[in-house]
Amino acid sequence: MAWAVSNGRHLMELPSVVLAGRNVLDETGELIMGQGLTGNVVIASGPNVWANLGRRLTGSLEGAGFSSSWVRVAAPDMASVELVEREVAKNGAEIVIGMGGGKSIDVAKLASFRRKAHMISVPTSASHDGISSPFASIRGFGGSYSAVTRPPLAIVADIGVILGAPPRTFNGGVGDLLAKLTAVKDWQLARDDKNEYYGTYAANLAKMSGIMVEEEAANIGRRNEEGVRGLVEALISAGVAAGIAGSSRPCSGAEHLFSHALDRIAPGKGLHGEKTGLGAIMMARLHGLDWERIRKSLEEAGAPAAAKEVGLTEDEVVEGILAAPSVRPERYTILHKLKLDSGQARALAKETGVI
Ligand SMILES: [Zn+2]
Repeated sequence: MAWAVSNGRHLMELPSVVLAGRNVLDETGELIMGQGLTGNVVIASGPNVWANLGRRLTGSLEGAGFSSSWVRVAAPDMASVELVEREVAKNGAEIVIGMGGGKSIDVAKLASFRRKAHMISVPTSASHDGISSPFASIRGFGGSYSAVTRPPLAIVADIGVILGAPPRTFNGGVGDLLAKLTAVKDWQLARDDKNEYYGTYAANLAKMSGIMVEEEAANIGRRNEEGVRGLVEALISAGVAAGIAGSSRPCSGAEHLFSHALDRIAPGKGLHGEKTGLGAIMMARLHGLDWERIRKSLEEAGAPAAAKEVGLTEDEVVEGILAAPSVRPERYTILHKLKLDSGQARALAKETGVI
């Protein structure tokens, strides 16, 4: 997103409204109306989410005078994005709602961006920071890991719905947030070694969401309302930090490259955030941060702190560390600087208890 931070110009794009609390799903229609939006609505979601929550969402939309149609999202790929785009064109829709754990939100983000429609994010789990960020991870889009779109205009985070999500989804959110502690360190490193643009405010905002998880880990582990609400709010602010930075820099460093490398090396093992959490323990050690605190926070929050808990083998972890820098050669991190060999990578993983 070079244009956002070039020639001294810096574009910040942020969500306008965030509504979080119990039963706020039923207020979605009113919220959209309050933003002065009109027109038809296309809802992108997976079949299970639709079966559980579709009636509530369409009921709320109808109550506010919006008519809507549903597009079934099968996968976060271009086929789904194009299906949503076709529905938007067919209905002359001006609003796209992405409702789900992550893939439906990403599909809705890219489709609405391409059709110049407004996007509303309705997360049904607290598994990652894509709830509010301007980035969409879509397979087969330009070969990159995330497409730059715009942040959602509004976010409706129903804590009751999110509390009912599969327990493991919270692990993802916890790991994705602890990752901000190392991501921000990598950003500082790029500023110092490569003279890269660095935004103090965005960095501190992202870091704060990681610190919040350290402080609230036990509550999050209990999966009580207070802990889950804090987790959701921290995920939203981390995504906002990316919107302020105009790039994913504050949210994604070497621990994310490690996670992305494992997506390819060991497909299907571990959620995105579970892998970034493991990566954060190791990258914290390399950065001289308190890696034991990160490890302890993962444990307290009930998230995996060792690779075997998500089925990853020792060799896969080592391979993930070694392959991480080549996932994004231009994103300078501690792994690009240190260029670990396989012995060093294995020693790092062992020392930190990841393997
Ligand atoms: Zn992430």
